[in-house]
Amino acid sequence: MTFREIAQTGSFEGSLGLRHDVDHYIERVYLMGRIEADAEARATYFLLPPGDYDSNENYYGRIVSGVVEHNPEKFALALELVGMGYEIALHNDFLQLSIRTGRSISELIKAEIDWFAENGIQISGSASHGSSFAARNKISNYEIFSECVRAQNAGRSIPAGKRQFPLNSISMKDLGLVYEAYFIGKSFYVSDSGGAVTWPRINAAGVEETFHAEQVDCRAMADDFNRSPHKGEQALFHADHWQFSETQPGNEGSIDRLHSARRMAHSHGWRPPRARPATLPMGYLESLLGSPSANPRIPLAPFRRHRN
Ligand SMILES: [Zn+2]
Repeated sequence: MTFREIAQTGSFEGSLGLRHDVDHYIERVYLMGRIEADAEARATYFLLPPGDYDSNENYYGRIVSGVVEHNPEKFALALELVGMGYEIALHNDFLQLSIRTGRSISELIKAEIDWFAENGIQISGSASHGSSFAARNKISNYEIFSECVRAQNAGRSIPAGKRQFPLNSISMKDLGLVYEAYFIGKSFYVSDSGGAVTWPRINAAGVEETFHAEQVDCRAMADDFNRSPHKGEQALFHADHWQFSETQPGNEGSIDRLHSARRMAHSHGWRPPRARPATLPMGYLESLLGSPSANPRIPLAPFRRHRN
């Protein structure tokens, strides 16, 4: 489900929230979107404004004289994703953007929400981006919001140019945002951040810890989910970490899907890059998308394995 839908229900219970943070290549995301559409999965794609990775430019656009200029060609891909039933939302690195542009965070977020609205896309929420800027300052980017407080940082301020930015000083609600992905509620959290897939596992002492999967085993993941107290799942996958090439082991059964996704992309004049750096074969993504359909604790419908 999309995060907007999950936020409306107020919890992950009975749902698989499928989340894609788009850090580098929106073209690769388009391939992922086509493959998910075949599985009739809905997901939310979180788009990252420029300003991280030591650059004032990325797929989203570029910073010119303190203003974010959007890339119309890449934006067409976002519209295409919306047309396929996906949600577009913001990947939040706005504190760093505020320092780069000299403009306030509220003003920047509002400008993005307005720009998307004028161009036919409703923005409802955000997901925090794990930038090196945030790591250096020992914060999570969601801590700009008054609704997203972590005890260890309560009351802290972060140097922002000549000023100090007080954490938790901006109301998400005032900006018209209804959710932050990490604050909708508890969930069985699966992630490929950093290129390694992790999920929660109850250890011998009965305590939940983060399990780093050497080999991704969907059966084992489903078993861990069933043993966990969680009633729903949040899965974060970066298309940048996936292998969309025909020669990757694990993609043997997925070649038709890859070809059809690439054909669709080419028919629009886009050239999705081969995945690099990439860690996971696409066949795994398909089995992941298929696995909840067999799980009685996630009454998800309609999941259907692609056939043709
Ligand atoms: Zn990110």
